[in-house]
Amino acid sequence: MLKRALLFVVILIGTLVVIAVAHTALTPRVSVAVVPLSQLPVDKQAVAERLAAAVRFSTISWEDPKAQPDSQLPQLIAFLRSSYPLVFSKLQQEEFPGLGLLLKWPGRDAQALPVLLAAHLDVVPVEPGTEAGWQHPPFSGDIADGYIWGRGTLDDKLVALSILEAAEAMLAQGLQPRQTLYFAFGGDEEIGGEQGAAHIAEHLRQQGVKLDYVLDEGLSITDGFIAGLKKPAALIGIGQKGYATFALSASGPGGHSSVPVDLNPLVLVSRAVARIDASKPQLTMPEPVRQMLAGIAPETPPAMRVALSNLWLSKPLVQAIFKSQPATRAMLQTVVSPTVFRSGEKDNIVPQQARAEINVRILPGDTVAAVRQRFVKAVDDPRVSIELVAGSTEPTPVSDSGSPGYRTLAGAIHSTYPDVVVAPGLVLALTDSRHYVDIAQNIYRFGPMRLRPEDLARIHGSNERISVEDYAAAVRFFATLMSAPAL
Ligand SMILES: [Zn+2]
Repeated sequence: MLKRALLFVVILIGTLVVIAVAHTALTPRVSVAVVPLSQLPVDKQAVAERLAAAVRFSTISWEDPKAQPDSQLPQLIAFLRSSYPLVFSKLQQEEFPGLGLLLKWPGRDAQALPVLLAAHLDVVPVEPGTEAGWQHPPFSGDIADGYIWGRGTLDDKLVALSILEAAEAMLAQGLQPRQTLYFAFGGDEEIGGEQGAAHIAEHLRQQGVKLDYVLDEGLSITDGFIAGLKKPAALIGIGQKGYATFALSASGPGGHSSVPVDLNPLVLVSRAVARIDASKPQLTMPEPVRQMLAGIAPETPPAMRVALSNLWLSKPLVQAIFKSQPATRAMLQTVVSPTVFRSGEKDNIVPQQARAEINVRILPGDTVAAVRQRFVKAVDDPRVSIELVAGSTEPTPVSDSGSPGYRTLAGAIHSTYPDVVVAPGLVLALTDSRHYVDIAQNIYRFGPMRLRPEDLARIHGSNERISVEDYAAAVRFFATLMSAPAL
């Protein structure tokens, strides 16, 4: 009996393996549309110097703007005006004083829906005490060793400037894009974009504008992040996680610690936090991640290719591998991070209040309301109140990776960076693009830059820099995208 059961299992596994291998062999590589590479001349040194000059304007978004020096956003915008005279004389423009800038370049095809290219001109501060760790001061805009150094070279001045460089070069040649283009540059993305991008989106909404797609920051070209993948991966974010913070609080009578009462809010809230932390959300396989794995599969070694092409069979295995690293685990899970705890003043006083905050990044398919329900169930204590803090946002709808816009974008990436594999992906953080959700058919998130694993720490960290070569490629990418024909 046992032998027959064993034989059955062996035959079953063998059959599944044969089906999986056949399925892998029959799955064609997703062909990337051919978009002709822009032949516009790019003067590497000149474009690098303009980005370096833009870096020298300190356009920091402070969490508490009153306590800090004014942002040099107006000076940066004045610099852009003088550096890109054709753009600012030929394009329609709308300035949102102190908040951002919107430019409109009418296209040749009046019937085609417009495209919005987004970027932000603000940067994050330098953490006090870390200045000495910079090889070149953060606002020096030094060009040295083949790199442009400083805050904003990766996040996100390079995108705004490379869009303007490409447009200026096209205008100089008398070229016009096919679709109408909007350039939307927010001035406060790093503190939520509630002034910049939100106002720009509202302005477009009032004019009844419907966008084909929005292209914003989010993912980029990464090399060495996915073990086994032979090529660098250019990932286009087709989905973005949601964001919410929940405040847990409790109160009690307090009193002297020598005669404690049962109702200690510090204990209640800490137990509630521990219960939420222990109730890990389940691992899933959201659509953007499924599409990412299918997209990179053809460029992986045979065993991995079989696994990634047959998630119907290998999903538990892939989930187990992803679970082992925080960065990949976050792609499969709504993640929960207790971040703030406040209670107590003195060691011999039982506190009357306790409050904790839990930050949650919500996977597409999950919702703020569902997270709240899970928290209430996990805490299971009516003495602890659970409130949603203002500023939450649902995960964005998943954008179409088969649309003409996506294919144009993928084609422009492929023409500019022929060595990469292009695939969809999921953005784990927040970007300004969420403000455009209701006026855009699709939102794609890709910044034209190459990042090695060690470069990740430069974004919002020390020694932010981009190579002169990579920056010239970014300009070429936007010139290619903006002059792309209809697909
Ligand atoms: Zn950014």
